[in-house]
Amino acid sequence: MRIRIGIMGYGNLGRGVECAVKHNPDMELKAVFTRRAPENVKILTPGVKVYHADEAVSMKDEIDVLILCGGSSTDLPVQTPELAKYFNVVDSFDTHARIPEHFDAVDGAAKENGHVGIISVGWDPGMFSLNRLYAGAILPGGHDATFWGKGVSQGHSDAIRRIDGVKDARQYTIPVESALEAVRAGKNPELTAREKHTRECFVVAEEGADLERIEKEIVTMPNYFADYDTTVHFISEEELMRDHAGIPHGGVVIRSGKTGWEDENSHVIEYSLKLDSNPEFTASVIVAYARAAYRLNQEGQTGCKTVFDIAPAYLSAESGEELRKRLL
Ligand code: NAP
Repeated sequence: MRIRIGIMGYGNLGRGVECAVKHNPDMELKAVFTRRAPENVKILTPGVKVYHADEAVSMKDEIDVLILCGGSSTDLPVQTPELAKYFNVVDSFDTHARIPEHFDAVDGAAKENGHVGIISVGWDPGMFSLNRLYAGAILPGGHDATFWGKGVSQGHSDAIRRIDGVKDARQYTIPVESALEAVRAGKNPELTAREKHTRECFVVAEEGADLERIEKEIVTMPNYFADYDTTVHFISEEELMRDHAGIPHGGVVIRSGKTGWEDENSHVIEYSLKLDSNPEFTASVIVAYARAAYRLNQEGQTGCKTVFDIAPAYLSAESGEELRKRLL
């Protein structure tokens, strides 16, 4: 029997999950839920229906894992603990500082109701976190560095859009190549935010808007841009649509460390991602973890888990025997 998947929330990530389920033959999409009017939400999978979010609970026996695709700021802190009462759930909660409290909320609800909830799945948090853990365990006493980009930061793009006179905007985070090379060479430099990343902004202004003021407001914006070297390009709406419609991202996690009695040998571990589509890649990671959530629950496990708690074989559609023969 295939693993029956439900999708809660149909934005970029929701559509990405739908595509990923298509490419995993041991899974099937059972339903998509939205808080909007279901008839206005068009999905890709033939024969699968869109329901209102309020109908989800009544379908709890038809869904093995519900994948939560809402936003981290206000949707997931409410949705994940609530829905973990009725379903095995997986989310991509990415507000790093609030993960401990989110974990506790989901853990309580999932344990009380006999479900598994896997939170903060994706690439960061997610695959990057896992690689930081592996590298740190292997090279204790070493040094970590994470670089993001080149890629679109949704949060920074939104911050620019909120400026008076801005119609639309796209912000790219770009690693500083010389800093990246120094870390790769195991030089372990102390780097400030400005030395690690630059920020490049493509802005469509309203007609007649004061471009000088907009640029100043961007580059001096605290927390978002003030601590970085930021360049601003004003472009037309057509150029933005033509050249900046995608949602690429990626980055690297690097750890360098030493071994030997006198620390005579150096090692560098690097995990790198170059993603054409941030949400589609994130969704592909989530779907692999949905398989793990289902299997763990079948074994009788309950409660909240993160990528740190899941053994790798649980992610693969292949059996342990196949994996040992083919990949070990
Ligand atoms: P999004 O496209 O803004 O979608 C978020 C929610 O907005 C949807 O689930 C949808 O819920 C709602 N929505 C309302 N009106 C919409 C409309 N007109 N079109 C589409 N959706 C609409 O956000 P996203 O790109 O999917 O990202 C979701 C979250 O994923 C982010 O907040 C981020 O925290 C997380 N994320 C994590 C990672 C990681 O590595 N861990 C990476 C990328 C993203 P309804 O259908 O219920 O209305």
